[in-house]
Amino acid sequence: MPERAEYRDNLYIYPIVYTMESPLEVTFEDTRVAFSYKSDQELRKARFVFSVVNHPWASAVATALVKGALALRLPIQGLIRKTVFQHFCGGESIESAESTILHLANYGVNTILDYSVEGEDSEEDFDRTTQEILHTVQKARGRKQIPFCVFKVSGLADALLLEKVQSGKAVTDDEIQALERAKGRIDKICSRAYEYDVPVLIDAEETWIQDTVNMLAYEMMERYNKESTIVFITLQMYLTDASKKLKDAYHMATMHQIYLGVKLVRGAYMEKERERAAEFGHRSPVHPTKEATDDAFNNALAFCLDHKQRISVMCGSHNEYSNYYLTVLMSKHGMRPADERVWFAQLYGMSDNISFNLARAGYNVAKYVPYGPVRSVMPYLFRRAEENTSVYGQSSRELTLIRKELRRRRGVNEMGMQMYGYISL
Ligand SMILES: Cc1cc2nc3c(=O)[nH]c(=O)nc-3n(C[C@H](O)[C@H](O)[C@H](O)COP(=O)(O)OP(=O)(O)OC[C@H]3O[C@@H](n4cnc5c(N)ncnc54)[C@H](O)[C@@H]3O)c2cc1C
Repeated sequence: MPERAEYRDNLYIYPIVYTMESPLEVTFEDTRVAFSYKSDQELRKARFVFSVVNHPWASAVATALVKGALALRLPIQGLIRKTVFQHFCGGESIESAESTILHLANYGVNTILDYSVEGEDSEEDFDRTTQEILHTVQKARGRKQIPFCVFKVSGLADALLLEKVQSGKAVTDDEIQALERAKGRIDKICSRAYEYDVPVLIDAEETWIQDTVNMLAYEMMERYNKESTIVFITLQMYLTDASKKLKDAYHMATMHQIYLGVKLVRGAYMEKERERAAEFGHRSPVHPTKEATDDAFNNALAFCLDHKQRISVMCGSHNEYSNYYLTVLMSKHGMRPADERVWFAQLYGMSDNISFNLARAGYNVAKYVPYGPVRSVMPYLFRRAEENTSVYGQSSRELTLIRKELRRRRGVNEMGMQMYGYISL
């Protein structure tokens, strides 16, 4: 069992004890490895980005200004492109993300191309998004550096329809047809993924549509996971019923003799979930404390490894303890770091200390690399800004690491200058 966390600076900190159980020296403190892929200039830019978002008021002002400027169609896209976009996104198209893919691959870090355009809601938009995801599957075919593809069901179907289906309300003939078209799009992506042998992740979303998402995702798993793990569902461990859902999914997989692919995350919509529950007078579906979410997440990792003959797991997390804990579990199970059933994943531009140090130690690591036109990925970028304010604790950790690395590089440069001066004497 994981040790108890200590609450500090808005964060629950788990004491990481590097024990003999750890197969290789995995430390998330090595900033030289963490930022080896960034030039000094890029690192200074990262420091600027995280310094802004670290202050809730600065982040709120910057976000409001950008939203206003975009609404007024002021020419600020160039500025966004050179700052936050460059930091958190791989490019504006699949083609322009290629250099990011190759660059990350040099360090053993793989890419999951994440088409991050949001707010599209017409049938034409859904068809266009389907084509785009199919391009990512095509792009990933036979390429080790792109080990997964990903999509959100709400990018392929009307969220209101998904909600209505889940609510059990009567649906019209038109709505039944729209649902069939959505199923068709999802099946097209999963069947192509199966044909090209590219595993595909289905993201988890808000609880009021997630049962419908799961229903569709399970159907795909039953169809395409007979010989290997092609379709991965996502479980949000901040939900009180997630541990039961994981066990149920495992039993379902056993019954149908299929492989189970699970991406475990803590969950991205906590405030929204709580607000909605309060609005409708329901109990919040989210665990009451961070500690309870952490325990559920870490226990789920253990459950997946206990059933590794059937389950493949992706740990989608920036939590250092959970990532470290998974390396310990792997070691306990006698698994090689590169065992294909276990993956570690973080978002591009975040927690490089975890990704690059794990990759260097031989673990399977991938970054979600968002891409899309600057204007269309703005909702994604606003969420990153929100998630990274000091209220949530992530950016102060990022800033500390970036500053540490900049200091280290300055020290190395100064030493080099002194050496050079000495030699030239
Ligand atoms: C590769 C990848 C894929 C992802 N895919 C998805 C996805 O498909 N769907 C999705 O919803 N999210 C997804 N996420 C986001 C993820 O759910 C988290 O929001 C985010 O990564 C922060 O959690 P963490 O594990 O990094 O750890 P931490 O930073 O340690 O934990 C923060 C999280 O803990 C939970 N939490 C915080 N405070 C409390 C509290 N008081 N009570 C209960 N719980 C609390 C919340 O979930 C919060 O986001 C993904 C993240 C990654 C890295």
